[in-house]
Order: sequence, then structure tokens, then C-alpha cells
Amino acid sequence: MAYRAEYLWIDGSEPTREIRSKTKILADGEVPGLWGFDGSSTGQATGDNSDVVLRPVFETPDPIRGGNDIIVLCDTLLTGDLSPHPSNTRAAAVAAMEKYGDQEPWFGLEQEYTLLDPITGWPAGFPAGGFPAPQGPYYCGVGAVKIHGRTLIEAHTSACMAAGLKISGTNAEVMPGQWEFQIGPADTVEVADHLWVARYLLFRLAEEHGVEVSIEAKPMKGDWNGAGMHTNFSTKAMRENYDAVVAACEAMGQPGIPEAHLAGYGVGIEDRLTGEHETQRYDQFSYGVSDRGASIRIPWQVAQEQKGYIEDRRPNANADPYVVSTLLTNTICSALAG
Ligand code: ADP
Ligand code: MN
Ligand code: MN
Ligand code: MN
Repeated sequence: MAYRAEYLWIDGSEPTREIRSKTKILADGEVPGLWGFDGSSTGQATGDNSDVVLRPVFETPDPIRGGNDIIVLCDTLLTGDLSPHPSNTRAAAVAAMEKYGDQEPWFGLEQEYTLLDPITGWPAGFPAGGFPAPQGPYYCGVGAVKIHGRTLIEAHTSACMAAGLKISGTNAEVMPGQWEFQIGPADTVEVADHLWVARYLLFRLAEEHGVEVSIEAKPMKGDWNGAGMHTNFSTKAMRENYDAVVAACEAMGQPGIPEAHLAGYGVGIEDRLTGEHETQRYDQFSYGVSDRGASIRIPWQVAQEQKGYIEDRRPNANADPYVVSTLLTNTICSALAG
């Protein structure tokens, strides 16, 4: 029987890339191949030369449609020589894996997001035009006053599991209406592929729940936590000895490196990295054991066991995971190789 493939790709929207998708009907036994779209409608081409090529790179069962239907994540190529489109950030992640894959880089991405009322734009759990009680009881909370949107979060988690994504957990966050899921451990390319598909499933399911998902970094100004994409990272050497963990932190603080990383960590980084609400200021770099006010935290258990991973707390919720994973792989693996 014919079946449906939902082709996904990352667009050229500024300042924050968004996911786009369209449906292709495939004949029984037909496999998903190259396809294309109108790049002049996605910030990826001009009208007089509008075609952009889609190349399937990662496939999962479609947990929303079920049956034989599938999701096909693609990267974008230029017509002509089929080289990566300028907006294709996956290509650099693949190159980083080819260069440093022997160090076995692993990532765990913590995707935070905020549920919004689609009419008012106000976060779920915020009274119309007003504010809920201050932060404190909401993080990992339970009960209808503290928790808003759990049915969506449960549906999303089930969908990610059914699609075979490496989802490793979920939790309610510090601000009402704010949630998190984690993807990992997985390598430089795989973690970002899985995160983009997980974002798609979240936005898509939210349509049916009558809420809007926002990955804005600081949706509510003032005394409310922002939304990040904490990035946990290790290499084989770091998973075996603590000297490599410290060397990784030192590499991240070398002159010019913090600035280069922040440039790829998402839009509005200065609004979120204020030095408050569990962040270090954007213009300072520090690392420390258990320190949630540092740029990079070494988890307590890692110091205890003298091996493991580090957590870069700076990436925004709206960052492109291909860009973030490429930066960490290149910076740390080149230092550890030296
Ligand atoms: P936090 O305590 O900061 O909230 P989470 O539990 O939300 O941390 O997320 C931690 C993430 O780190 C998970 O996705 C987990 O799979 C991942 N992780 C665990 N061990 C490693 C490792 N050695 N290297 C990279 N990522 C790891
Ligand atoms: Mn977390
Ligand atoms: Mn969190
Ligand atoms: Mn974290």
C-alpha cells in the first residue's frame, strides 16, 4: 500500500532557524529519495532560482500517523553540484565527526521550552494580563495550580519513544508553563538529528493541544527563568579520567573561544545570561563543580568519580543543535588531541 513520508528540513529563517515539513506519498516499496522545495518562501533562495534540494539523512517511524508512515529528516543542498546549501549547518557537524569521531564524542542536550496561549501569547499558567506566584514551587512540581500542559508533555514523550529517538527524560521547569526534555547520549550529528525531530514532534502535537511552543530564550522579562539548551559533553578520555575533564574546561576558556561559542549559542544570549537565574554573565567565563552560576558545571558525581562529562550551561533554547555540537566537538577534541 502507498504510504506517507513527512519530509522535514531546517529553513533559513533569521534570527532563529525553524523546522519546515511537507508530505510525500510513496508507492508500496518505494524508498524516500531526493526531493525539493521553494527556497524563496523559506529564506533560502531568490525567486528566479528558487529550487533547493532535500536529501534524506535520518528516518524514523511516524508516531503521529502510525502504520507504515515515516518521518524523513533531510539536509539542504544547492541545485547544480549538490553541495551543502549555505544554511545547511549539518554539513559542518558531519565534518567534525569525520575528524574527531575516534575520540567518541557524546552529547546530552536539555531542550527547555515554554508553552504559550496561542491567542494572548502569555505563558500557560499565567493569569490573563497578570502574573502567578513567584518561582519556587513549579520546578518538578505536581498539581493543577503548579503544572500546565502535562498532557502534551506525556504525548510528546510517548511519540519520541515510538519514533526511536534517544530521549532520556523530561521535567517541569522553574517558570510556570516551562518544560524540558533531554536527548542523549548520542554523537555530534545524531544528537542534533534527534533533537530536530523531537522539536518537530513537539510543535506538531501542540497544534492538537491548542497551545503554542516557544523556544525563545527569555520569554518573560524580569524575575523569571529563561529557557536554555544545556549541553552535556564527554569524550572517551573524559569518561575515563578527570584530567581530561579539566582539560576540556580549560580549552573552553582559552582567549577568543567563549566569544566564538556564544556567537553560535542562539539569539538573545545577553538577555538570558545575566548572572542571575542560574546563569553566568555572558561576558564572563568560569567553570566549577556543582556550580549552576558558572558557564560550565562539572556535575558533583563527576568530581566524585573522577571521570565523566561537563555541562555547558550557556546555549539558548533557540540555538541550532548542529552549530552547538560542532563548536564543542572542534574546540575540545582538538585540545584533547594535542
Ligand atoms: P541536569 O541535572 O543539568 O538537569 P539532565 O538530567 O537534565 O541534567 O540532563 C543530563 C543529560 O546528559 C542527559 O541527556 C544525559 O543523557 C546526558 N549525559 C549523561 N552522561 C553523559 C556523558 N557521559 N556525556 C554526555 N552526556 C551525558
Ligand atoms: Mn535538566
Ligand atoms: Mn533545565
Ligand atoms: Mn542542566
